[in-house]
Amino acid sequence: MKLTWEYTGGIIKSRDFICGHCGLHLASQRGWDAYDKSDIVAHIYICHNCFQPTYFGPDGKQIPGVAYGNPVHDIPDQYVESLYEEARNCTASNASTAAVLCCRKLLMNLAVSKGASEGQKFIEYVEYLSDKGFIPPDGRDWVDHIRKKGNEATHEIAIVEREDAEELLSFVEMLLKFIYEFPAKRKRKTSADS
Ligand SMILES: [Zn+2]
Repeated sequence: MKLTWEYTGGIIKSRDFICGHCGLHLASQRGWDAYDKSDIVAHIYICHNCFQPTYFGPDGKQIPGVAYGNPVHDIPDQYVESLYEEARNCTASNASTAAVLCCRKLLMNLAVSKGASEGQKFIEYVEYLSDKGFIPPDGRDWVDHIRKKGNEATHEIAIVEREDAEELLSFVEMLLKFIYEFPAKRKRKTSADS
C-alpha cells in the first residue's frame, strides 16, 4: 500500500482518542489524511494539549499507543520506579511479553527489598509478598492466577497476550500503591497536621 498524504487545511474528521504522549482524552480534528488510491485509510492527529502527533494506520492501530495503568508516586527505589514505567510503556507499544518480564523483575526486587533472599524463583517471591501480608487477603486469587501463569512460562520467554500483561500490571500497580504511595501520603498528612 502506498499512502499519499494530503494537506486539507489541517482540519479532518474529528476523532476521539487518548493521547499516548500526555494521556489526555481528547477529540481532535486537526491533522492530515492519507489516501490509498481514492480511499482515506490513515490519519495523523495533533493533540491540542501537548501538540504531539498520533498516527492511526490502515489497521486502525494507534501509534504511540496508550500506556496501561496509572503512575504511582513516592516509590523510593529508582530501579523499581523505572521498571514500572518501562512495563507501562511496553503495553503502549504492544510489547506484552516485555511488559510481563519487567513486572516479574520488579516483583522480585520488591520482595528482596522487603527481606526475601536473592536467587529464588519468581513465584516464590510472589508467595513471599503474600505470606508477609503485602498482598491483601482477597488478593489470594491473584497470587494463584499469577502462579498458574508463571508455571506456564517457567524458564522460557513465552509470548504473552496483552490481557496477561495488563492483569499483571494492575496487580503491580495495586501493590506499589499499598506499599509506597498510600503510606507516604498518610505520612505527609500526619506531619502537616502536627
Ligand atoms: Zn497530548
